[in-house]
Formats: sequence, C-alpha cells, structure tokens
Amino acid sequence: MNTSDNQFDIVISGAGAIGLISALLLAPHGVKIALIDPKPLKVLTKVDDTRNIALMQSSLNLLKHLGIFDAFYKLSRPLEKLRIVDATNRLLRAPEVEFTAQELGLNYFALNVPMGAILKTLAAQLPQHKNVNCLFGTQITDIKQQADQLDFTLANGKNISGKLLIGADGRNSFARQSASIKTTTKKYPQIALGFAFKHTRDLGNISVEFHRRNGPFTLIPMQNLNDGSQTSLVWSETAEKSEQIKDLPKNELAALIEKITQGIVGKVTEIGYIAAFPLTNINSETYAKSRTILVGEAAHILPPIGAQGMNLGFQDAAIATELVIDAFNMNADIGSDDIMKKYNQQRKLDIHARGKATDMLNVSLMSNFLPMQMARGLGLFALQKSTNLRTSIMKKALSPLGVTPKSML
Ligand SMILES: Cc1cc2nc3c(=O)[nH]c(=O)nc-3n(C[C@H](O)[C@H](O)[C@H](O)COP(=O)(O)OP(=O)(O)OC[C@H]3O[C@@H](n4cnc5c(N)ncnc54)[C@H](O)[C@@H]3O)c2cc1C
Repeated sequence: MNTSDNQFDIVISGAGAIGLISALLLAPHGVKIALIDPKPLKVLTKVDDTRNIALMQSSLNLLKHLGIFDAFYKLSRPLEKLRIVDATNRLLRAPEVEFTAQELGLNYFALNVPMGAILKTLAAQLPQHKNVNCLFGTQITDIKQQADQLDFTLANGKNISGKLLIGADGRNSFARQSASIKTTTKKYPQIALGFAFKHTRDLGNISVEFHRRNGPFTLIPMQNLNDGSQTSLVWSETAEKSEQIKDLPKNELAALIEKITQGIVGKVTEIGYIAAFPLTNINSETYAKSRTILVGEAAHILPPIGAQGMNLGFQDAAIATELVIDAFNMNADIGSDDIMKKYNQQRKLDIHARGKATDMLNVSLMSNFLPMQMARGLGLFALQKSTNLRTSIMKKALSPLGVTPKSML
C-alpha cells in the first residue's frame, strides 16, 4: 500500500446491516471508504439465529433509494395487519386491537425479511463500488485523534487514516469506547427467545402479538415455503423460564406453542435454532463526538419489542450520510464538530422516544401494580375504539420522529 492507499475519507467499522447500508449510501458520492469487520467475508453474512426483521415503510424507502428494494421484496412477507391480544390472564384484560395498513392507505406496514437474507443482499452490492475498500478479517486496535483526521492501527499491522469514523460495530462498540462516549444501561429481568418454526395453518399477512405477563410473544409470518408455512417468533420470558423453554424436547415445545397461539398456527411441525437475547435498553450519552459518528447498535440497543432496532439504525445511517455528503460536496471538513453537533441533535428525539415507548410497553406488561395495568388496558381500549388514535399511533411507529432524511421520504 502506498500512502494514498492508506488514506480514506471515511472509515466504517462494522459490516453488519447498518455498516453495510452506510457504505452503500456513501459510495455513489465518490468518497473513499474503508469498511472494516473482524469477520472474514465468508462468515460475514452467516447468522446462527433465525431472526427476522420487520422493515418499516421508511426503511423500505431507503432500499428503493438504493435501487435494491425488489431484491428484498422477493425474500420477504408483507405485513398488512398487526393484532394485539391480551393474554396476561389478569383481572383487568384489555380488548383485542387490530391495526391495519389499509387504515393508512398502505398495502402493508412492513416487509418481514430474514436477517441472513438482509446481510447477503446488502453485501452483494459491494463489488459494484470500487471506492469501498473491504478490510475484512481484521479490526481497529488503536485510534489516535489528530487535528484534522484519525489515525488507525489495525490488528493485521496496517495503519490507515480517515477524516471520519462511522462506528457501526455493534453492542460492544470499540469506536464508542475510543471516543470516550458513555452509555446508560437498563437491564430487564427477561430473555427474548428468537426462532422460526414451520406449521400447518397459515397466519395470513398478519403479525399477532400476545401480551403475556412476562412480556410479548410475537408471531411474524415469513415467506411461504413450498411445503407449508413458517413463522418467526420473538418470545420474552423471565430468565429462568426461557432456560426451561430452550431445554424442552422439541415435541413438548411444539405443543406449548400450539397452546399459547390458541390454534391459529395449526400444528407446529419443525422448530429452528433458538437464539437467546437478554433484554436491555442501552443508550449512548451522545451519538457523535471526536470525528466519530455512532450508528445502529453501537449507538443504542432496544429490546426486540415493536420491531424498532434496525429501523432506527437505517435512520441513523441515512441522516449521518446525508450530513456527511453535504459537507463533502462543499469541500468542508466531514468530521467537524459542527457535523457531530447536527447529527446528535437530529437523532436524539427519535432514539429517546422509541427507547421510552419500548420501555413503557415492557414495564406495563410485567407490572403487578393495578393502576399500571389499568392504564395499559384503557390505552388499548381507546385504541380499539378510535380509528384516529390508531392511525396517529401507526404513523408515529412507522416514520422517524424529527428530521426525516430525504432518502427515506
Ligand atoms: C430477536 C430479535 C428480533 C429483532 N427484530 C427486529 C425487527 O423486527 N425490526 C427491527 O428494526 N429490528 C429488530 N431487531 C434489532 C436488529 O436485529 C438490530 O438492531 C440490528 O441487527 C443491529 O445491526 P448493527 O449492524 O447495528 O449491529 P450488528 O448486527 O451487531 O453488526 C455489528 C458488526 O460489527 C462487527 N464488529 C464487532 N466488533 C467490531 C470491531 N471491534 N470492529 C469492527 N467491526 C466489529 C460485527 O462483526 C458485526 O458484523 C431484532 C433483534 C433481535 C435480537
């Protein structure tokens, strides 16, 4: 590598979905990018868990902007309705509420896409962009801040530099730690089990969320198979119970799912790999500092309730890249304090509001406090009765709060 081979405009650490999206949004604008991930290319797109992601309208708009929507559509199942069923078995049971995309004039709210398919489809776009230098199988081990750039040492012994670091390196972000950005953490007493299963009765394009005492049990239909239907499940339970569920013989687990789902999926015929995710709400005190912008789970981790995490990450990437490209096109410093300040201002409201909403839903389900149960029940009752309230809540859930980046309109 000669000196210019080592100098980049932007270094992106982490090639998960949000790092990949960031690279694809930046690439057409002629910026020189280094995309770094400790995983070698072969394993980058492999995921153990059978997690599925509901990508909302604004995220789908971003895929359209990138010209890759059709590739996603082929792999997905559209979600037209969301049904909430109170299965808490408490004295005060809330009525069933159904949100329909039609009430918003849409064909569907979201597309449900397997995580592995998201990574594969995004990574397949990289070879088209010669200005994205993929440094896979290595990672940043040291970052030195200079007046007008960051100098990086990599685990493979290489030294590179860049004007800006986009930290997309997930929950234990090295980028975040290097920029001395602190986090606040709220741990919940639950584990979310995420897995797919096959069954005999199709759900239709409806996601059904059973609200149970220990958290939601959410069914999200997946694309139909030739030999039947499959659904992904995110099931929050206490740590102790989730261990027991994971250890159940498959036939007993199948019977339990059939019982909880009250017959709507018919017979459960096959259960996929069960991944366990401790429920936490982690938020960074700032999302940008010292030439470092945090995106995705490097910036915030939400419990997998309400399908928010990756959608928020798409919004981070869209806002960050638009600010950076505007500065780049004006020959301004893309890592300036001004950019850091603007990014932080533009992301704060959205990330805080979604973190709070997820927290409130989870806490209200777990609570034995009667007024809290009443408030949740009344809220759902009001939602059942009022179309205006339902459409207003749906609009808030589907689009970013505050600034909507142009690429998501
Ligand atoms: C069960 C479950 C269901 C979910 N469902 C939904 C949903 O329906 N809708 C939704 O919006 N969200 C959902 N989410 C959240 C979503 O999965 C995450 O928000 C998203 O995958 C985070 O992507 P990321 O790229 O930020 O992080 P990651 O996927 O963690 O990627 C981080 C990348 O950084 C790399 N890395 C690690 N360390 C370093 C380092 N030091 N240097 C460089 N690279 C590094 C890793 O190898 C990895 O490739 C769900 C989550 C769970 C657990």
